[in-house]
Amino acid sequence: MLPEKMQSVKMLTDRLLEFPRVRMGHLPTPVEPLSRLSAATCCDIWVKRDDCTGIGFGGNKVRQLDFYLGQAVQQGATQVLITGAVQSNFVRVAAAMAARQGMGCHIQLEERVLDADDTYRQNGNVFLSRMLGATLYSYPEGEDEVGADARLFRLAQDLRSAGEVPFIVPLAPSSPPTGALGYVDAALELIQQNHFFDDIFVASGSSLTHSGLLFGLRALGNSTTVYGVCVRRDRVTQKERVRSRLRDLALLLDMPNNVLDADIRLDDCALAPGYGRMSTETEAAILKTARLEGMFLDPVYTGKVMAALMARTNKLRGRKILFWHTGGQPALFGYTNSFNDL
Ligand SMILES: *Cc1c(COP(=O)(O)O)cnc(C)c1O
Repeated sequence: MLPEKMQSVKMLTDRLLEFPRVRMGHLPTPVEPLSRLSAATCCDIWVKRDDCTGIGFGGNKVRQLDFYLGQAVQQGATQVLITGAVQSNFVRVAAAMAARQGMGCHIQLEERVLDADDTYRQNGNVFLSRMLGATLYSYPEGEDEVGADARLFRLAQDLRSAGEVPFIVPLAPSSPPTGALGYVDAALELIQQNHFFDDIFVASGSSLTHSGLLFGLRALGNSTTVYGVCVRRDRVTQKERVRSRLRDLALLLDMPNNVLDADIRLDDCALAPGYGRMSTETEAAILKTARLEGMFLDPVYTGKVMAALMARTNKLRGRKILFWHTGGQPALFGYTNSFNDL
């Protein structure tokens, strides 16, 4: 590594050490070539296995919750409160990490997916969260982040009255992007694994993963193109969200934001028919990856990322590509009825 690169690695590492963490993830995660998928598409595709972060079936949320639970421990919390979609991976991992920390977990599930069946409502992540001992609540709205957070605050109030110390993991962009620190850390990890890529494909939902990764790479002087694949909002709306989360992240870290506006790339070609719902292209991408690589993708996030990558392979010849696997496989068991080809 060049001396100035080593210096930026050290600086960012030191900066992150100032934030409390619980360090429950199995890190670093492997970077592996996807040889058969590469051969089938005439591209050079690799994978970052963040589906292998360990605790509670892993995924990207382990890196994010590492920092949230660090705060919870520092505050002496006894109960963790979190909100998400019915098949949310975030709440499942929160329940696992809270259990391991000896804390209770309260999960609010939002109705984001219309026409969902019983399998979606009971299986997969819902089943696992129950197994982990979490208390589940239902929230009737799917697109009311502020309202969902407000109800969590009321629940926290009730718990406080009962003598508990609640800690809320907030989802709305009005809270600091603490979870994105986990992906600033992941950028550091990738650079230190000494792999260099032309392009990275990653899901962009709350955008904490996308924003953290992009912020971290640019802070380290790395110029890899990062494609955020939209899973919930169109690319114009999502770009504004990433932009504002990057600003918040610069404030949180007290560092300059080195990301140029043109660097915020969003692709919404795989978004239809909407959040948590599969298209035939996404289903095909999931089946192809399973059958060529023995690797599972999920219908809500990583399947869409792979579908977006597949749609671009003609333009990606000769480039070294990293598919960032963010996990989510337990949701597959909530979607068994959505696979038309099986
Ligand atoms: C939550 C999630 C994402 C999206 O990450 P954000 O940080 O919310 O943008 C991607 N993949 C999986 C499997 C997830 O659970």
